[in-house]
Formats: sequence, C-alpha cells, structure tokens
Amino acid sequence: MKRIVVVGASLCGLRALETLRSEGYAGELVAIGEEPVLPYDRPPLSKQFLKGEWEEDKIALRAQGVEDLSVEWRLGERAERLDAAGRAVVLASGERVPYDAVLLATGSVARQLPIAGDRSGIHLLRHLAHARVLREELARAARVTVVGAGFIGTEVAASCHERGLEVTLVEPLAAPLIRALGPTLGDLVADRFREEGVDLRLGVGVAGFEGPGRVEAVRLADGKTLPTDLVIVGIGVRPATDWLADSGLDVTDGVLCDATGATALPGVFAAGDVARWAAPGGGPARRHEHWTHAVEQGVHVARRILHGSSEGLGLVPYVWSDLFEMRIAIAGEPAADDTMHVAHGSLEERCFLALFGRDDRLVGAGAFRRSRQLHPARRLIAEGASFADAVAANG
Ligand code: NAP
Repeated sequence: MKRIVVVGASLCGLRALETLRSEGYAGELVAIGEEPVLPYDRPPLSKQFLKGEWEEDKIALRAQGVEDLSVEWRLGERAERLDAAGRAVVLASGERVPYDAVLLATGSVARQLPIAGDRSGIHLLRHLAHARVLREELARAARVTVVGAGFIGTEVAASCHERGLEVTLVEPLAAPLIRALGPTLGDLVADRFREEGVDLRLGVGVAGFEGPGRVEAVRLADGKTLPTDLVIVGIGVRPATDWLADSGLDVTDGVLCDATGATALPGVFAAGDVARWAAPGGGPARRHEHWTHAVEQGVHVARRILHGSSEGLGLVPYVWSDLFEMRIAIAGEPAADDTMHVAHGSLEERCFLALFGRDDRLVGAGAFRRSRQLHPARRLIAEGASFADAVAANG
C-alpha cells in the first residue's frame, strides 16, 4: 500500500497514524485537518483550559516527536468530498488527494439551539477555537447561563463557578448527567452543584433569548427570565458526515462500519465519533462518542488497514468527568430501571462504586472518586459477568 490518507487530524486520527508507523508501515501518510492546528486533547478545553490553569502547549497531543511520524499534515484544509470510485479525497480548493486506503475520522459537530439565531454571546464548545473565544469572553462576564447538563454543560458550569462567575445551569431532564448515570447518581451531582451555589433549573427547557444583537437574557419554558452576560450551549453532537453525502456510504447517524472499522466501500474505513461500528457478535451498529473509543478504534482500524485482520473490537463504553473535587467514571451503560448496588464506600460520602444489573447481568458501573475500582468492573462487564458475581467480587 503506497499511500494512506487520514481525514480528521484529531485524537483518533493521530492514534491511527502512530499505530501505522509503530507497526511498520513505511509508505506515505497524509493527514487532512480542517482545524489549523496539530492534534490536541479535548477534555481540558472545558476544564483546565477554560479555567485559565493550562495554556495551549499543555494540551498538544504530540508536542515532541510529531516529525518522527513522517506525516504530510494538511492542516486548515477542509475535505469537501470523497470520490470513492476514483480513490481520492477532494479538498475545498478542488485539489484531489489520492489514496490506497482512507480513514474517515472527522469526529462530530456540536449542535446549536435553532432559536439562538445569529445573536452574539451564545457559545458552543467543541474546538480549541471555541475555547479561546469563550475564555476571553468569560474574563469580561459576571453571569453565565449553561444550557444542557450533559458532559459539556456540567463541566463548563463547574469551571465557570470555579472562575468566580454566577452560574445558572438549565436542563430539560430531571437531573444532570441523568442519561449517563441514571437518576440516583444524577441527583448526587445536582446536590453537589447546589452546595456550590450554582442555580440549577431542572425539568425546564429554553424558550428563547432576549437582547437586540447580543444575548442579554434567557427565557425559560416556565415563563421565567434569566438575565445573563453569555450563554454556553452543550446539547449534544451530530457526526460530521455532511461532506460524505454523495459518497455512496451509509451515513445514517454516522458512517456505517463492520466491527473492524471497514465500510462497504473498498479501501474506506472510519473510526471515532463519526463512525457507527457493528458489535463483534452481532447486535446493532452504534456510535461511541467518548475519548477512550476514539483511541481504541483508531488503534484497531490502523491494524485492520495494515494487516487486514478480521477480528472485531468489543467495546465496553468508558467515560470520565471531573466536577469540583469529584472524578466520576462510568463503564457500560446504566439505565434508569437497573438494579443498583453500592460498594466500596457510600452515596452520602459521594465516594463509592455503584454496580448496575439488568436480568442478572452486570451492565454498568459508576464510580465517584473511586476510579481505580471501576476498571475491574469494566472487565467484568466485558466478560458478561452476572450481577450476583459482580456484587460478590466487590463485597
Ligand atoms: P451530552 O452529554 O449528550 O449532553 C447533552 C445534554 O443536553 C443532555 O442532557 C440533553 O438531554 C440536553 N439537551 C438536549 N437538547 C436540549 C435542549 N434543546 N435544551 C436543553 N438541553 C438539551 O452532550 P454534550 O454535553 O453537549 O457533549 C458533547 C460531546 O462531547 C459528547 O459526545 C460528550 O461525550 C463529549 N464530552 C465528553 C466529556 C467527558 O467525557 N468528560 C466532556 C465533555 C464533552 P437529552 O439527552 O434529553 O437530549
């Protein structure tokens, strides 16, 4: 294989490039990235970077050694089209970048509230460029409103509070992080925010924004109005597949792949947020939006491209978040109706491992300040352990 092209110079793309080289690929590597910067780590954007504790040099993913990879970086260039029949990526400039194999790792795009219109002061946080602007604006703000209490919303709200700002967090569901943690643990997160004095508005949506050119207030669906200096919206993402619309790929909620990252088109692979991978033993194909999956899929698909192995990647979801002093880590997929067992601590101390069971299978685990105990639980989920065995193992 003479030339491999990676579209998306992100965490996933970088891990794939590194694996290709470390496993002996000596041909040409080209990385195309719309952002004009080398790959960086996103988790600090909503935390250390936003708080002003870290600068950009600290979030670079490969500050040293990037030359060792011998990659032709095409940064600040947008891939506009995939010509799968002609085996080329077409850039916005019209230039064609030919490939023998291509990895699509274009990630996802933050969703904006349609009612935001073109008012200024309503921010998204996905890229470094977003974080730079937001950090500057926060320095001049006193009151902020965060819309959506998922991962971005809770982390941004905690960071803004720690910067000394007056924060309101608005979420239509009953608790923060409820989709990831379920209601009981979501309520613990809510309590921690309230203790800090963050104004939580749960079970209510945003009906509109006020202010002539720049946002001055948020109108809630319950009729209340919140004066604000700026708004940060964290209401989820969609896969970045717009440029693939006429590629011939199935891009319904992400690029459809088998369990190795191969698509239905020859030489075309996808990984990370943009990809919807099949599970190795059957079951519906799924997108996984988390950091760990971007790494694991990037490495796996690189091996697939290089060695052609047909072994699928079995993924147990894993995600962590830092809120105030709490490191929260989640494995598997807890749901609201699961049976919950608390081990290694207590809910009152907000320091524990919670195991989630469904039909006597261990399906999820959530750790508050107990990340180390989570990893064995993640292994048990992967092994298909029974809930009873998992409880006994954590007795
Ligand atoms: P998210 O975790 O999916 O949370 C979005 C939240 O906003 C959900 O609670 C959602 O409720 C709510 N929401 C949806 N529509 C809304 C609306 N119109 N008004 C108000 N709230 C609304 O997504 P995110 O927080 O935006 O994060 C984006 C991506 O970055 C995700 O892939 C996430 O995994 C990733 N990320 C991860 C971390 C981490 O791992 N620590 C940190 C930051 C970001 P519904 O579920 O009902 O739609």
